[in-house]
Amino acid sequence: MATDALRELYQEVILDHSKNPRNFREIDNASHEAKGHNPLCGDRLVLYLLVEEGVIRDVAFQGAGCAISTASASMMTEALKGKTEAEAEKLFGSFHDLVTGKNEGSDDVLGKLAVFGGVRDYPVRVKCATLAWHTLNAALAKKEEAISTE
Ligand code: ZN
Repeated sequence: MATDALRELYQEVILDHSKNPRNFREIDNASHEAKGHNPLCGDRLVLYLLVEEGVIRDVAFQGAGCAISTASASMMTEALKGKTEAEAEKLFGSFHDLVTGKNEGSDDVLGKLAVFGGVRDYPVRVKCATLAWHTLNAALAKKEEAISTE
């Protein structure tokens, strides 16, 4: 596929998830919860996790932000269900490397998340794309304070 066609596809996927975010709700019996804020763009979200015996059984989020931050959170929740905490951390590492340009998205573990590879050309957007993931880290580490990308 030509680069332009790929880029168009990526934009479509991100647009779809930002307009119709998946798992956009609260989890009443959440075992983990954290708030994230990206002051540079104004993105805010609350992440809820239900972790049982080290496995992420359910994950959901609420909040308001730009298309990139919402799509990233939406796709992250889809990617995390059924994963262990260790797998989730590994996925964050791969995702972070992708959006900061340390790998080209050839990493198989990323799957659909590879669409965020285009973000690396826009440093300001990297914080939007990683906000949900930093919030995930804070939730798994049981940090009480809201995290900020600044
Ligand atoms: Zn943003």
